[in-house]
Amino acid sequence: MSNYSTRRSFLQTISLGIGTTIAATAIAGKNKYAPPGKEQKKLGVALVGLGSYAKNQLAVGLEQAGNCYLAGIVTGTPDKAAEWSKKYNIPAKNIYNYQNFDQIASNKDIDIIYIVLPNSMHHEFVLRAARAGKHVMCEKPMANSVKDAEEMVKACKDAGVQLGIGYRMHFEPFTREVIRLARKKEFGQTRFIQTNFGFSIGDPTQWRLKKDMAGGGPLMDVGIYCVQASRYVTGAEPLWVTAQFGPITDKERFTTVEESVSWQMQFPGDTMVNGFTSYKSNIEQLYVSADSGWMQLGPAYSYGPIKGRTSQGEMNQPVVHHQTVMLQAICKEFMDTGKFPTHINGDEGVRDTKILMAIYEAAKTGKRIPLV
Ligand code: NDP
Repeated sequence: MSNYSTRRSFLQTISLGIGTTIAATAIAGKNKYAPPGKEQKKLGVALVGLGSYAKNQLAVGLEQAGNCYLAGIVTGTPDKAAEWSKKYNIPAKNIYNYQNFDQIASNKDIDIIYIVLPNSMHHEFVLRAARAGKHVMCEKPMANSVKDAEEMVKACKDAGVQLGIGYRMHFEPFTREVIRLARKKEFGQTRFIQTNFGFSIGDPTQWRLKKDMAGGGPLMDVGIYCVQASRYVTGAEPLWVTAQFGPITDKERFTTVEESVSWQMQFPGDTMVNGFTSYKSNIEQLYVSADSGWMQLGPAYSYGPIKGRTSQGEMNQPVVHHQTVMLQAICKEFMDTGKFPTHINGDEGVRDTKILMAIYEAAKTGKRIPLV
């Protein structure tokens, strides 16, 4: 069990009670509503890369969401194709490998292609999905470079398809409540945010420890949640960043990626952020200090249950299955407007990629890197 997704054994699921058949009909690349009362099909999603996250989280979300379903798979492992086909009743015509993937263009069952591959493969497969004329969801981190991320946005814009990043915390109720409290200034102006996410990584041979595949270490994998949190809590963009790599204590695992990194950012409104991420320390917390109170989530970013308190007491929010509510919300918005929610779109992924790269640059050079 090598990452935080498989590390969490207490996955919480709830039945969301969505029984009605909703969704849209894909017409000329756009989803149109069927007239009220007329039954619509669910959005068909094809998962690309049947690893841990696809299997243990997204497939569950697709089963529960109600307005979308697992219509197809793309895998390089024939045994998985057979197993998934049987389990999810996926017809042979909706099963692809990485070589014949582009033929998905003519498959009317597939509305959205969801890329769940190692980070270095996101760029290629988002571009190929866009060329196939399909809407695309891509897992975080969007890309290993700003250039790649920008090319992904452009490819989707040029093809007239939607691009979303799998930023599930945007749909999680405790997180949404912290965002509401902070942005409405219920406790006054936010002055300081402490945000950490790290875990003890397992298998030393896994792709997460190879820079050419992962793009970096814990910052790319889980530190991105902290960067995201500082942006979604403040609703603003950082002005500058300084950063420091932590020591390498494990010379077997950390030959090409960092073991840990700390960073500091200033946001408009004189809000300071301290971030920390690690492949050694088990830690996850979001602490937001404002003029007249505070909000705290811990656990803050794993699959849950997320727990929260404010200076006024326990937070009372529903515990949800993150991937289910994320898929539901994205598909609903798409069916309502023809677009994915803007707060998780490709432009958001580009902004985060720029910040991640600036954190690396700051840690390497020891300099304060401006972000505006
Ligand atoms: P895994 O290693 O478990 O799965 C990746 C899958 O990609 C493999 O099982 C394989 O599927 C396919 N693949 C194709 N080429 C390669 C290759 N050269 N090396 C390894 N795998 C390959 O990774 P995860 O599922 O944990 O992560 C996948 C993506 O999802 C990452 O970008 C990660 O950051 C993101 N993620 C997001 C999470 C979230 O909460 N939003 C949580 C966990 C991960 P196949 O055999 O079908 O070809």
